[in-house]
Amino acid sequence: MLRGLSLVVPAFDEQSRLPATLREASRMLPRIAAAAEILVVDDGSRDATAAVARQVDAAVPVRVLSQRVNRGKGAAVARGVQAATYGLIAITDADNPYALDVLATMGGAVEAGRCEIAIGARDLPGSTVNRGYGWLRRSAGQALSGLTWLLLGLPIRDSQCGLKLFRADVARELFALRRIPGFGFDFEVLALALARGRRIERFPVHLTHHDDSRLRLIRDGTRMLRDLFALRRRLRRGAWRGEVSNVAEGCPCCSDQGFHEQVERSGWRMVECEGCGLWYLRPVPSAAELLALYDADYFRSSSANEFGYADYGRRADAELRRETFRRRLDALGPRARGERMVDVGGGLGFMADVARERFAERWVVEPSVWAASQVAPDHHVVKAAWEQAALPAGGFDLISMQDVLEHLPRPGDALARALAALRPGGYFLVVTPDRMSWLGRLSGESWLSVKLPEHVVLFTRTRLAALLRQVGFEMVSIRPARQVVSIGFLVARAGFARALLERVVPGSVRALRLAVPTGSVEIVATRPV
Ligand SMILES: [Zn+2]
Repeated sequence: MLRGLSLVVPAFDEQSRLPATLREASRMLPRIAAAAEILVVDDGSRDATAAVARQVDAAVPVRVLSQRVNRGKGAAVARGVQAATYGLIAITDADNPYALDVLATMGGAVEAGRCEIAIGARDLPGSTVNRGYGWLRRSAGQALSGLTWLLLGLPIRDSQCGLKLFRADVARELFALRRIPGFGFDFEVLALALARGRRIERFPVHLTHHDDSRLRLIRDGTRMLRDLFALRRRLRRGAWRGEVSNVAEGCPCCSDQGFHEQVERSGWRMVECEGCGLWYLRPVPSAAELLALYDADYFRSSSANEFGYADYGRRADAELRRETFRRRLDALGPRARGERMVDVGGGLGFMADVARERFAERWVVEPSVWAASQVAPDHHVVKAAWEQAALPAGGFDLISMQDVLEHLPRPGDALARALAALRPGGYFLVVTPDRMSWLGRLSGESWLSVKLPEHVVLFTRTRLAALLRQVGFEMVSIRPARQVVSIGFLVARAGFARALLERVVPGSVRALRLAVPTGSVEIVATRPV
């Protein structure tokens, strides 16, 4: 008898087949485990899947988790894994083609410490596979096994078998690193497991009927191939090395575990905290994963709307950025004067440049080695993340943290560090996207600030003000942030209208500058004396 078992059943448009699956599972689970539960993850079904799951009269608790939109089997299983209660987590398909009694043997192997992952394998001797499992799918399956072996070195035939069982902590660790939302999650999770030294054992399974029914060979096959190559690249970059100690942690601001899903994009998921309303990436990427984003390409990205900056240092843009910073300093008036200031995440040092007349000493803390190398030599550069940066004793008169906070997985810690680094009476200038700005509210998911995985947390101005006070700051002012742009800059971001505008808007007009609201909030706070 296993101690406790959670069975995750991803389901998309399964109202007709799901009830029988749940009844069968509820009949089997009490014979296998002392405590058990079934988690149905309704993957944005268009039919009554969730409703029929709730109505099933089962001998074990059935919990129904609903994804608002269809996100794919990988995302659905990951949701179930995150919510599971017991020490063993099994996964099966909604049309349940597998006899579930083998879970007792699989779970036994894991509980005995022989392996952390037990997977069903339809090709093992002892497996029974009925004829409904056609040759075409069988050949496709074999081709995929060959490819996963060739491309990933995955020595596992039949990685796609729908019946799997994990030690719960290992499942959470692996699914936290998962990026593939669709069917490819199977080989992704197994490849990550092997790379992390986890042991996988295979077990013969009994197929009771036709399976893989929701797999459309051509479309899903092409998709899987793409996923396969993407995963190969990720593995080569060492994606499997991620620290996953933060998996079980809740909201980075208030630690609440409750959340609503908001955005899922290329395998990253942003959720809204039920406790405080913060939007954050869940699971929160590790510091190492985030740091890897800010390599040399970050400030010279070819796809700036998705990632990084097009060419942050280009002369014309550089002047616009300096002007933006100059205006923000001007707005601070006499508060922006003193002995020493620091710009956190200061990039190429533009903020420090415009602070020359106001501060004798300008510090730039910047983790990107390339950006830090571009900072003017009369500033002090610290090549490090803010949390680790070695700072001068005596404190700063001004700390500026502009377009940085949204990148930090521990915003509370970063703010606390800012408070500690400020001399009493010193000022703190923070600019970060404000979800409640009209721009944020109007654009919803397509808001430029919903930039995953770069932006780890998205505040509202009230949430940020509350956090600042909680950390020990006193609020001075709060207003929408503006950015100085040229007409040409707006034209370049005009999406489908860009080609047309580039032809009709003359160069002299494109050079015109104006300060536009960015959807960010600009807050000035002070360290009480
Ligand atoms: Zn929260």
